[in-house]
Amino acid sequence: MIPVLRFSGQSVAVLGLGRSGLAAARALRAGGAEVLVWDDKTKTPAADGFEMRDPATLDWRTMAALILSPGIPFTHPEPHPAVRQAAAAGVPVIGDIELFLAAKSEAKLVGVTGTNGKSTTTALIGHILSTAGRETEVGGNLGTAALDLAPLGADGIYVLELSTFQIDLAPSLACDVAVLLNVSPDHLDRHGSMERYVALKRRIFDHPRATETAVIGVDDGYGQAIGRALQAAGRCQVVPVSITRPLADGISVREGALFEEGALRPSLRLDDIPALPGRHNWQNAACAFAATRALGLKTAAIEAGLRSFPGLAHRLELIAEIDGIRFLNDSKATNADATRTALACYDTIYWIAGGLPKAGGIAGLEDLFPRLRTAFLIGEAAAAFAKTLEGHVPVRQCGTLDRAVREAYDAARADGRRDAVVLLSPACASYDQFANFEERGDAFRDIVRALAVEGGTATGGRS
Ligand code: ADP
Repeated sequence: MIPVLRFSGQSVAVLGLGRSGLAAARALRAGGAEVLVWDDKTKTPAADGFEMRDPATLDWRTMAALILSPGIPFTHPEPHPAVRQAAAAGVPVIGDIELFLAAKSEAKLVGVTGTNGKSTTTALIGHILSTAGRETEVGGNLGTAALDLAPLGADGIYVLELSTFQIDLAPSLACDVAVLLNVSPDHLDRHGSMERYVALKRRIFDHPRATETAVIGVDDGYGQAIGRALQAAGRCQVVPVSITRPLADGISVREGALFEEGALRPSLRLDDIPALPGRHNWQNAACAFAATRALGLKTAAIEAGLRSFPGLAHRLELIAEIDGIRFLNDSKATNADATRTALACYDTIYWIAGGLPKAGGIAGLEDLFPRLRTAFLIGEAAAAFAKTLEGHVPVRQCGTLDRAVREAYDAARADGRRDAVVLLSPACASYDQFANFEERGDAFRDIVRALAVEGGTATGGRS
């Protein structure tokens, strides 16, 4: 834990008692603050003996700050009443990352944001750095809350995944290396408008204590415009990254090979790294390459880290290969866009999909239907998905995940095709049958492992 001394001897309210809220409360208390906590959904006394106080009953004139969890509305659709009350009394409203910035040592900070690929890229950068022998701590929006990370000395490096909500609540954000992977419309209900969402993503580069290196994916129009503006401002080293076209002044990936700054020969290949399948991962890997290069790593050290990356659970996670059939857990794909990325990676797919449907369903995935041998449908979305697939892809109504995995395995075995994959990429939320996407992915892993034990010859699997 990293104690926060900034509010020593003062009273601070913490609203939202998830992972990062509790970490903030503990770090503030360790730094000598009086901490009052609240969560609209938890009426029982908070863990760790904190005093629960409904913010509506607080005298804001006596409070030094309101620490808001990223899941609670700061601005849109409308501010939480406590945000209004604090702001009216002139009390700063900030998040755990702002506290982290005030409390951390001289250790360097790598911040990673973007609409997609944040977790993968954050974990990848952390893995490359620690494989190269650097003292590294990884967390933020991914895994461990920033204030729960270990204190690092001046030679250490923090790698933080930063959501837009966290950036919004961190006015002092200044990263030594800042990475913006990509920008596309997401969570606009919580950000107000696309303009505001883009402006917040841009903030990762904005602090006057200039960022040393800005790594920026320029394959979407937003990233391209931000990259150009940063280059024109000339305040920091800017490394544009593209997986769609050659770049004279940045890093580009062509046909799976990574090229640096107009080089004629590639520095390394990305298309044969087992834990990073698919073109979308070229973007993640190329940004991780640029970030770790900026921290002084040589190509060989970066390549060693990329190749030994174990991958993240629930994102195209290879669970096992049984009788030559690969079983992949992509439970994190809770919408059609994420599933599109997964389907684009394989040609012979026994697809397990369904759950709690999202608006629009899978209607946008038609161009990928030829890759599907059969769809094995589960959960509430099954009937609607079957309708969309009708006339294109054979469908089996399986009801449960257990049945779907077994039927998919039997079908793949009966077809006997060499490159068959059984892919769980649901394009749906999980809440109709599971607590969350992690529990759904864990269930898939258990079922596949049981299959491997029951029969067949299993190999591989990353975790
Ligand atoms: P995030 O943390 O931003 O949600 P993850 O690394 O957890 O991203 O990846 C979630 C899903 O997003 C992956 O399973 C994949 O489908 C998709 N994805 C990952 N990286 C990218 C990328 N660079 N571009 C587009 N989609 C991606």
